[in-house]
Amino acid sequence: MVATGIRSTIVRLGILLLMADDGSLTLLAAESPLQAGAFAQDITPLEFPISVNGNMADVQATGAHDRLHARCLVLANSETSLAIVVCDSCMIPREIIDAARQQAAAKTGIPAGNILISATHAHSCPTVTGVFQSDPDQKYSQFLITRIAEGIDLAYRQRVPARIGWGAVDEPSQLFNRRWVAKEGETFEDPFGGRTDRVKMNPGYSNPLVDRPVGAVDPQVSVLSVQTRDGRPLALLANYSLHYVGGVSGAVVSADYFGEFAMRMARQVQAGNAGPSFVGMMSNGTSGDVNNVNFSLKVGPKREPYEQMGVVAETIIQAVSKVYGEIQYFDSVPLRVQDAEIELGVRVPSAEDLERANKLLSETNDRPLKGMPLVYARETTLLAKYPSTVKVRLQAIRIGSLGIVSSPCETFTETGLAVKKESPLPRTFTIELANGYNGYLPPPEQHRLGGYETWRARSSYLAADAEPKVRETMLKLLRAVAE
Ligand SMILES: [Zn+2]
Repeated sequence: MVATGIRSTIVRLGILLLMADDGSLTLLAAESPLQAGAFAQDITPLEFPISVNGNMADVQATGAHDRLHARCLVLANSETSLAIVVCDSCMIPREIIDAARQQAAAKTGIPAGNILISATHAHSCPTVTGVFQSDPDQKYSQFLITRIAEGIDLAYRQRVPARIGWGAVDEPSQLFNRRWVAKEGETFEDPFGGRTDRVKMNPGYSNPLVDRPVGAVDPQVSVLSVQTRDGRPLALLANYSLHYVGGVSGAVVSADYFGEFAMRMARQVQAGNAGPSFVGMMSNGTSGDVNNVNFSLKVGPKREPYEQMGVVAETIIQAVSKVYGEIQYFDSVPLRVQDAEIELGVRVPSAEDLERANKLLSETNDRPLKGMPLVYARETTLLAKYPSTVKVRLQAIRIGSLGIVSSPCETFTETGLAVKKESPLPRTFTIELANGYNGYLPPPEQHRLGGYETWRARSSYLAADAEPKVRETMLKLLRAVAE
């Protein structure tokens, strides 16, 4: 911690001190003053019914319980500009991201590679990615591209001189690793006719066949706070490693706890009505294997629809409140972005896998497909057309001494924890499902244990050695922006 007197002088001079673990201070180059703008762009569909992503069988939503948004934050100084966008969506494919980035870049001059666009992973938003039996809504996909680009432009246009700070607090109470390992000698079926899985995802309450959760949770709530120079809140970007909450009533679209958090945060900071509205944002960390259901209980708590997402949002708001008042702000910070692609292998089905899948599918005329074996058989036929490698985009952003690094995967919590621990920057958080969609990213050991997240489908198709390569590249990009 820098003494307050020194800090105020430093801020006025537009320089930043970086403190290493051993307490040594590094003087960073002078930066020009920060400008920031934020805008919550409405992306609620204009037409219903509309397909909803996130289930094995498709759901057609007939209305909206609450509004969906693309929440946009733009940061700029005279050297660099960047945008961070969090969309109420389950997952957004690369084609939509690329088009939105290009449109936004053309409107604002922010380089396309300096734009991070992520999905919250709410399971009650319109389908823009083909997974299981939900197909993308083409009209909504085009609408989403335009809306994201316009949202970034509106955030950029209303940018003002700003100050920025960050912090973190632990809130473990809402997180449970959902992958449970079998008791000694027990195995579970997969949907491909095998029975070698040692792990069951969401085993249910009081399941006598499972022993304990097999992975960790990351309790950290990270917070990036942006204010006008005189201290009026402009935006707060939070980050938490929780899959989603759910608990909607019927076939509707909803922004889940991510939307609840944004709304309640605005109330909490009492930003007032002068000037642009405050934008709360909740991004998803690394939650591929972590949800909000405590299967170590005998029975789950009874909740009304939407009640649990409110409980989770409020719990995190209270956690954020513990650090919000202590955040140290800077008028000028280094802004750096590294955007990269790596090539990763695909688990393309074998000729034998394909033959088995086609045989299964030929035995039924029922649509929609019923049961996991048939759903995964169809996924097998679709994956058989995939190339043997795909390009996966990773991105690191540095804001002062804070690092933000993203992957386009449903990333496991242990990956996020490792990246935070090994990051060269004093504070780091991860945003998953950003800048594209490449399915689950189980570490090699989790692939060996099996379970839902490893089952080959469009929701899980990267090679079993992908995670170490992604992890290493995330760290490489962080080292590059930290330099
Ligand atoms: Zn998921």
